[in-house]
Amino acid sequence: MQRRSEPLISEQAIQARILELAAEISRDYVNRELVLAVVLKGALMFAADLSRKLTVPTSIEFVRARSYQGTRSSRRVQVTVFPEENLAGKHVLIVEDILDTGYTTHFLLDRFRDAKPDSLELCTLLDKPARRNIPVAARYVGFTIDDQFVVGYGLDYEEKFRELPAVYVLDET
Ligand code: 5GP
Ligand code: MG
Repeated sequence: MQRRSEPLISEQAIQARILELAAEISRDYVNRELVLAVVLKGALMFAADLSRKLTVPTSIEFVRARSYQGTRSSRRVQVTVFPEENLAGKHVLIVEDILDTGYTTHFLLDRFRDAKPDSLELCTLLDKPARRNIPVAARYVGFTIDDQFVVGYGLDYEEKFRELPAVYVLDET
């Protein structure tokens, strides 16, 4: 599998959008205890860059859910990593790489609600609304994209391409 040579979203565009999102989140969470719940592995780069632009004190937790094989979404979601910290009274912001069918995020939101945080919101770098099967909406969206499989900036195809600083369309031919 190859990626296209020209990025769909350039490194500069990603970083500029992160500055805007960080400013918005910093305004919304002023005087609150913000916990970034980073969804592994895809949101790693996004969360690292976003967190460094926030002006509110933040703690960082990791969560991992597995639901995807190859380029097709499956409905089976398994949470394999979940924060050990007590989230009661905290303001949790889930940081996702991409919102696609919505199954993964729907399941994660349920798990987090059980932990009784004071608030629970979602921030995703990319949103592919065309493929949504479960109504899930993110409070903060980096970019809305068409129904195509993308890699780079944390997103993989079979564990490849995560290290790229920009987002590329994967050529599935
Ligand atoms: P959902 O459960 O919303 O269908 O899937 C979300 C997960 O599927 C994402 O966290 C991501 O791991 C994977 N995914 C969905 N679309 C893409 C895509 O275009 N590229 C990559 N690399 N992963 C995707
Ligand atoms: Mg993946």
